[in-house]
Amino acid sequence: MEPELLIDGLNDKQRAAVAAPQSSKLILAGAGSGKTRVLVHRIAWLMQVEHCSAHSIMAVTFTNKAAKEMRGRVEELLGGRAGSMWIGTFHGLAHRLLRTHYQDAKLPEDFQVLDSDDQFRLLKRIIKALNLDEKAFPPKQAQWFINGKKDEGLRPQHIDSFGDPIEATFLNIYQAYQDACDRAGLVDFAEILLRAHELFLNNPYILEHYQKRFRNVLVDEFQDTNNIQYAWLRLLTSGDNFMMIVGDDDQSIYGWRGAKIENIQRFLNDNPGAETIRLEQNYRSTANILSASNQLIANNSERMGKELWTEGDKGDLISLYAGFNEVDEARFVVGRIKEWRDEHGDLSDCAILYRNNAQSRVIEEALMQAPLPYRIYGGLRFFERQEIKDALAYMRIVNSRLDDAAFERIINTPTRGIGDKTLGVVRSAARSRGQTLWQTTLQLLEEKVFAGRASGALSNFIALVTELEQNVIDLPLHEKIDWVILHSGLQSMYLAEKGEKSKARIENLEELVTAAKQFEKPEEAEEMSDLTAFLTHAALEAGEQQADEFDDAVQMMTMHSAKGLEFPLVFLVGVEEGMFPSQQSAEEPGRLEEERRLCYVGMTRAMKKLYMCYAESRRLYGQEKFHRPSRFIKELPADCLEEVRLKTQVSRPTMHGRFSNAAVSESFESTGFSLGQRVMHTKFGEGTVLNYEGSGDHSRIQVHFDDAGTKWLITAYARLQQI
Ligand code: ATP
Ligand code: MG
Repeated sequence: MEPELLIDGLNDKQRAAVAAPQSSKLILAGAGSGKTRVLVHRIAWLMQVEHCSAHSIMAVTFTNKAAKEMRGRVEELLGGRAGSMWIGTFHGLAHRLLRTHYQDAKLPEDFQVLDSDDQFRLLKRIIKALNLDEKAFPPKQAQWFINGKKDEGLRPQHIDSFGDPIEATFLNIYQAYQDACDRAGLVDFAEILLRAHELFLNNPYILEHYQKRFRNVLVDEFQDTNNIQYAWLRLLTSGDNFMMIVGDDDQSIYGWRGAKIENIQRFLNDNPGAETIRLEQNYRSTANILSASNQLIANNSERMGKELWTEGDKGDLISLYAGFNEVDEARFVVGRIKEWRDEHGDLSDCAILYRNNAQSRVIEEALMQAPLPYRIYGGLRFFERQEIKDALAYMRIVNSRLDDAAFERIINTPTRGIGDKTLGVVRSAARSRGQTLWQTTLQLLEEKVFAGRASGALSNFIALVTELEQNVIDLPLHEKIDWVILHSGLQSMYLAEKGEKSKARIENLEELVTAAKQFEKPEEAEEMSDLTAFLTHAALEAGEQQADEFDDAVQMMTMHSAKGLEFPLVFLVGVEEGMFPSQQSAEEPGRLEEERRLCYVGMTRAMKKLYMCYAESRRLYGQEKFHRPSRFIKELPADCLEEVRLKTQVSRPTMHGRFSNAAVSESFESTGFSLGQRVMHTKFGEGTVLNYEGSGDHSRIQVHFDDAGTKWLITAYARLQQI
């Protein structure tokens, strides 16, 4: 491509960045302003005009998907010559370095990467070998501790526990774990980065080689780098080479995983000559979506400050939908997507974004029912998740002892000291006798084949399953599942894991109870018990193939995984207080601001049309909750919004010029109450308005009181106070 064409379609600021002489630069700009596009064009420019070889360029992005896309776009611009260019994630590139210099990195040639589950299991064994109580020192917490330290660049010998015995014990675990990894030639994810950093630090000639080689290092999504990533980049680019970073402080959403927005400032301090270029024109979203997002993020303090404008049309208003409950919310979303498909065609233009993975289930079911193909990015379908499969395996074995697959899955989950050897005996006996594992276990126990410990452990398992069955036999379906999750030990096992993942697993398990509660037995399953019908339903859903990456399918993902992407039609679901922002983050200013940035990321994914949905009542994690619409909705400018009712459609700015959740009929308005509103009653305490009927003196209002349950009251006498 001709050099002019590389800068032809760019605005002045973008062009200044792309066509700048080789130098270090910060490109600081809001969402959709073309940061990633500039980076791609810059790479092509360096090669075409500055005659840099592909060999001399390194580009770092945040996800594999983004890396793949970037390589594709560069090759498109160049007509295919990016082969030897290092484009990848921090982990991918660091891993490549370690492979090349394994000896200097003190690794065996065939070192293996330990994924997070493997790491967990290894830690579990180590904690046991150190004779520590797993309850006091849960493996998950050790994992959190070790990875956190590695992200800071710290080895055990760098850490002082200052006499704190707990910290000292975690340090011991860290040391023992590290020894075990080193002996076995294993590196975990955090280790990859730490070791690549040490490789540079301890081998000046290697460092110098790469400083000379990579004349230009370019980094996308810089606001989410952590300490060790920054330190590594800093070493790499402290020669005569250059680093161009692009980022947006308003989109830093991985603080909970150690990312440091301050790294942007650090870069400026460490590279005093680096120029800052701000891009201010947004090319992605309509003016309505853009000004709403701008106004939202203006509520955060300590921003680096950016303005975004667009030449584009105002476009549609942002639609707010107050679902009656989460099922209604899901149906609404699916209905709009069908309309979209009928009018415009592509399903892959539609993205459904949620705060937590567990929220996907209800939507998945609505999509299945439609049916519309969908794809979940960066996660598994609900019924394929590990904890769900564990719980369902218990239900299956409670339901039928013939189920060998279920037996295998849970025989040692949670661990109950049944070793591989014991299981091997059971398996081969079952094979030779042509019986199920369950039956064989019973017989072998009777024949006293096993020594004391193994026999005790197996008998306990048999007793556990038998007891579970007896206890749930008369319970309704969802209570059966609830009971089994609690009494099988699964819940405490996952609780002990700690950290974000543990929380997500517990939430998913609770969500399974909700799924059971909402389950309606299909007609063709009339003959089956509720449990069998439900298990069949779950198995079928799990077996359904995830739509292929290239198929036309609705895109579903968490807002975190949507970073950097864009879609013509976007739905943000569950935009409610207590969900988004979550209860805990609402109480901590720092975390609240990170949630707000996440909302900004979510909203700015939308190109043409944005829906924000919330449910007035939500059954999630097994409980019914009455949430108010999120404060983030209230922070949006009223003139960019419209409220969608299924039959009528009214735009509803209030007297204060802000959106309020006045979601029902006009007659309701005269009372001063609105759906979802919080009220106080002298006797029943605080509650949430659910419904309203009648008018004037005869009107009645339905309130769900936090402690006193749901009640209908005569509005005139109830003397409810708004709070
Ligand atoms: P994010 O912060 O979300 O990562 P970004 O700043 O990286 O966003 P891009 O993804 O690079 O933004 O660009 C957003 C959209 O705008 C893309 O579709 C891109 O092709 C388009 N775009 C960027 N610059 C221009 C331009 N000068 N002319 C036309 N379209 C542009
Ligand atoms: Mg980008």
